[in-house]
Amino acid sequence: MPESGNHARIVTITTEAEDGLTLLIHGGAGSRGNHNAEEVDRDLNRALDAGYAKLEAGASAEEAVIAAIHVMEDAPEFNAGHGAALTSDGIVQMDACLMDGDGSVGAATGLGTARNPIDVAQAVKDKTKHVLFAEPTDQELADWGIETEDNEYFITDERRRQLVSAQNDGDEWEKHGTIGAVARDGQGHLAAATSTGGITNQMHGRVGDTPLPGCGTYANDETAAISGTGIGEAFIKAVAANQIASRVRFAGQDVEDAAKATLDEIDGYHGDGGVIVLPATGHGVIAYNSETMKFGFRSRTESEVHS
Ligand code: ASP
Repeated sequence: MPESGNHARIVTITTEAEDGLTLLIHGGAGSRGNHNAEEVDRDLNRALDAGYAKLEAGASAEEAVIAAIHVMEDAPEFNAGHGAALTSDGIVQMDACLMDGDGSVGAATGLGTARNPIDVAQAVKDKTKHVLFAEPTDQELADWGIETEDNEYFITDERRRQLVSAQNDGDEWEKHGTIGAVARDGQGHLAAATSTGGITNQMHGRVGDTPLPGCGTYANDETAAISGTGIGEAFIKAVAANQIASRVRFAGQDVEDAAKATLDEIDGYHGDGGVIVLPATGHGVIAYNSETMKFGFRSRTESEVHS
């Protein structure tokens, strides 16, 4: 494991639910900014409402995570869809990944017009024989039934301000805030979904961990579903999501230890961030070594959001 002088401060929140319908979401790890906590809490709750309603209606874990992600992609305060972070040349390039516990997975990168990037990930999974697709054309998006918008639709004044400040006052590399969701449905199946605008002031063409299965997103029905947020480069080096699942699967670690050890490795790569982890059986875990993390969870017995 790489060395770091800076030991990870890991905060772990454990959900009580041992089995049954469970939904965990995150709205990004980052530094303490001046976000509107009321707005974030409201939209995290709306995302939980949308996703958990699917589970209660008997829908699959995949449908639940997509419903939750749609709410957060459409909400401007999260770094995904409308409100995504801007590249150094002032545009939006979004990534997303969707993985089911049966191993089926789709992902897309460099999206500039897809209103809901997670829908593109689902289309790649269901409508092509591929896993990872870069910069689909408008014709391909239309063929897949994806709703599109001009790039301007995604850009908010707040993201413009953050880009100016990143470029004028030094690199605000810590300004991130990807969204993600993991769910366990009534059949005991798992799914994970992650969607992001990347990191403010990233170079045009840069791809982070989010769309890379096993790095920012991973699901396996025998072990766990995982979605991450943070400095993508460090998550890629640690193959973070897969590392957590492998620690559970092959080393017999519980999800909490697996998440902690992986975040320590990410810290060694000079990155920080957080993960939501939901095992096939047992309670879910939210762990982060960034200053803050926005998250929420809901099960039959509990519902909570944190911003
Ligand atoms: N992990 C994302 C990326 O590196 C950023 C984030 O989580 O906010 O693209």
